[in-house]
Amino acid sequence: MNKGAAAPLFICNQEGVRPMLKPINQMSWLEVDALDRSRLAYVLPVGSTEQHGRHLPVGTDDLILQTSLDGLEKHLKTENTFLRLPTLHYGNSFEHLDFPGTVTLRTATMLAFVEDLMMCMQRHQVKYLVIVNSHGGNAPVFHAMAQEWGQRFGIRVFNIDYFGSNFFQDAQPLLQTAINQDIHGGEIETAYLQYALPQTVKADFIRPENDVFVELKNYYYGWLTRDLAPGSGLLGGASRSTLETGEKLFRYVQDKLAGYFHAFDKELNDARK
Ligand SMILES: [Zn+2]
Repeated sequence: MNKGAAAPLFICNQEGVRPMLKPINQMSWLEVDALDRSRLAYVLPVGSTEQHGRHLPVGTDDLILQTSLDGLEKHLKTENTFLRLPTLHYGNSFEHLDFPGTVTLRTATMLAFVEDLMMCMQRHQVKYLVIVNSHGGNAPVFHAMAQEWGQRFGIRVFNIDYFGSNFFQDAQPLLQTAINQDIHGGEIETAYLQYALPQTVKADFIRPENDVFVELKNYYYGWLTRDLAPGSGLLGGASRSTLETGEKLFRYVQDKLAGYFHAFDKELNDARK
């Protein structure tokens, strides 16, 4: 027996009820079935399991993803229903494969997974998919497929990419490291986790002499982390991270995500006109 009454989950889109972002795995099939399909989108969070330097856990992308979506669930108000699917905890991480603890999927495996999901969505007449991706290496894989998936499955795909996009561009004033040099496990990810999940950060390894600053070449996408940061895996300014920056970044991510979801909300509304 639960202690006290749990807050009821919404089950319909009736006037005055404001659905939002909800975890699908807490709903019954009947509750899902009751939803107006023209007002429904699935949300697939995609992270990674890969090295993030000696000071951060291999689940860094995943932890940033979960904490940011958990935060968003608490305050996002939308007119349409966004159902959060269980997260895909693995991504395309070949660049980090030289470091133990990294588990990568092949691109073909990732695509097969999303296409199986789309087969199920098609069966249940769900027409919108939002991919919220927190690992830069996954971004080009999904971008390349969005038009083909639209044509083959009749599903409109919207993307949010924390990395491999301009998501953090407006956060530059919050940072001491140039965005294009804060590539992996640097100031952004370290500060964010120092604030959101401090117990996961190994402070002993955060030192200025461990920071590595490089710029990726825009003609060579086959780079490997071991060549750029041998023995560490850190690409960026981790030692510049502070708790204060982490708190600001957490709020920045919340605002940015809310902005995206409001845009998606409008897309669904406009499609019904
Ligand atoms: Zn990362």
